[in-house]
Parts: sequence; structure tokens; C-alpha cells
Amino acid sequence: MSDELTLRKDLVAQGVRLAASGLNQGTSGNLSARCGNGFLITPSGTPYEEITPEAIVLVDAEGQWAPGRRPSSEWRFHRDIYVARSDVQAIVHVHPPHATALAMCRMAIPAAHYMIAVGGGDSIRCAAYHTYGTQALSDAVVQALEGRLACLMANHGMIATGTTLAQAMWRAIEVETLARQYALALQVGKPVLLTDGEVTQVLEKFAHYGLMSTKP
Ligand code: 13P
Ligand code: ZN
Repeated sequence: MSDELTLRKDLVAQGVRLAASGLNQGTSGNLSARCGNGFLITPSGTPYEEITPEAIVLVDAEGQWAPGRRPSSEWRFHRDIYVARSDVQAIVHVHPPHATALAMCRMAIPAAHYMIAVGGGDSIRCAAYHTYGTQALSDAVVQALEGRLACLMANHGMIATGTTLAQAMWRAIEVETLARQYALALQVGKPVLLTDGEVTQVLEKFAHYGLMSTKP
């Protein structure tokens, strides 16, 4: 497992990458990585290019942090995902255009492309809408992620998890790509969905495919 300073530097670097990639803009979204019994998370309301390793906030499992910078307003769902999911080591929350457009329509992404498997199942669900930063939103997100590695968030954005921060980043980019392709396909015609058996075959192959197979 990476030490705390390495994780802090990694969170800073990946945050800048997210902003540059267009998945996030301004101060939207947030990133975290599990650290000991708690997690490290980006500070609230701070542009990515202004975040330093020292500005990353360490939050414990009870949701406590040292006086100083405030953690992301979404620390609750980051904490609750880590508590509910021992398989998750890093979380990326973004507001990218296409995944968010589907989430604004409160639509899930179905198995219209085999890359649906990046989300860990045959669909990427859309969590119910609740005000950002609330416990109600956290509960909805944990529910939407049951048996999954990513979800959309109604009228808000998307969450991708990973066994490493690099894997969570990769997953966030793939889910946004999938959302773009699905939205485009809906304009062209009626997307044809894969069968359960076809999705299961891809899920099995993905256990040994590229970043999907990354261990923490
Ligand atoms: P923070 O700046 O507090 O992380 O909030 C951004 C966000 O995306 C809220 O959902
Ligand atoms: Zn958000």
C-alpha cells in the first residue's frame, strides 16, 4: 500500500488531470483514496490547480478531521462507500457532460456496448436525487453501487471506484465515453442490448483485462 505522502501527491496529480481532461471543471467533483482506517480527500471548493499535497484532508472512519481545511462536502458518501465496500481503495466523483446529461434525465446506462462491464455489471445505475453533501445522497449512492463499481447520480454527475486511484480514474473516463456513445446511439436509433450471457462472458474476460485487473 502507498504511504500517505505518495497518496497525497497522487490525488493532486490526478485532480489536475481530471480538470485538464474536461471531466471536471472549476471546483466540481472530488477525489479520495483510502488511508489506514480513514481516507484522504480533496478540500472543498478549491480549484484543482490550487490544491497542494498538504491541502488534502485526512478524514477518519467517524467522519472527523483535524482543524484547518474542510474536506469535500461529499466526504459522507466517500466514507460510506469505504465502510460498505472493502474492495474499494479510491473514489473519483465527476460532473462530465455526457454522463451528467443522462443523469439529468435520470437514466441508467444499459448493456448497449460490451464496455458496460467496466461498471462491474450489466448496467450503470442512476442513484436517486438528493441535495449534494447530504446523508440521504450518500445512502442513495451506496445503494446504486451495490454489486457495481460505478454509478450515475440523478441531476448531478457520476462516481467511479477503483482498487487504485489510477483504476478509478480510468473507470471514470470509460463511463463518460460509454455515456457519450449511448447518448449518440439514442439519437441514431434504438440501441440493441446485449443478453445476460453476453455480458457475463465479458465480465469474466475483464477479470484479466488491463487496468480492470489492477490489485491495490
Ligand atoms: P466540493 O468542492 O465540496 O468537493 O464539492 C464539489 C461537488 O462536486 C459536490 O457534489
Ligand atoms: Zn458533485
